[in-house]
Amino acid sequence: MPAQQKARVRQLIAALRKAHPDAKLALNFSSPLELLVALILAAQARDDLVNSVTGELFHRYRTAADWARLDENDVRRVNFYRNKTKAIRAAAALLAGKFGGNVPGNLDDLLTLPGVGRKTANIVLGNAFGRVAIGVDTHVLRLAQRLGLSKNTNPDKVEADLTPLVPAKDAVAFCHLLAFHGRRFCTARNPSCATCPANKLCPKIGVPA
Ligand code: SF4
Repeated sequence: MPAQQKARVRQLIAALRKAHPDAKLALNFSSPLELLVALILAAQARDDLVNSVTGELFHRYRTAADWARLDENDVRRVNFYRNKTKAIRAAAALLAGKFGGNVPGNLDDLLTLPGVGRKTANIVLGNAFGRVAIGVDTHVLRLAQRLGLSKNTNPDKVEADLTPLVPAKDAVAFCHLLAFHGRRFCTARNPSCATCPANKLCPKIGVPA
């Protein structure tokens, strides 16, 4: 069974790559620190809004010490900006005080940062450090269930289910592909199963009638 699942995942990846050759992380960044900040801002916010806010901020805030003094007015266009400002300040202060101003490139240290859970940590590791990591966001969570790759609803357990199924070299791309596919075809409320390029590979578990 695991061998069959692995083979199906490889076919899925091929089909999704063909359908979404442009799949990539939607947030702009040029360093692990910028990605960490963008991810904190992106919680329940649109990626394009975050990009428009960070585009200017990344010129003015360059170091962890800078971000530890973030002015909340600079991010007030993003929802929950007060809480997000506090989270960025706290994480940046710890980076400046304990990690020499650098974002650590390992999961254990990343998880000690305030407001950083496994999803954020894995996205940072996978995208900014080139590590093998699966960050389970809302799209990955939903599609993993519909595609029959996990029966779990807890993101950490979904990550554990996906990790042995997805080839290590494809782990990061797989998350991008599911995110793009989740936006374009496999939406939460109205998935387009009839026209979906993964149709023949998908058991459509829990898809709304
Ligand atoms: S067939 Fe339907 S449920 Fe399966 S991935 Fe495509 S849109 Fe989603």
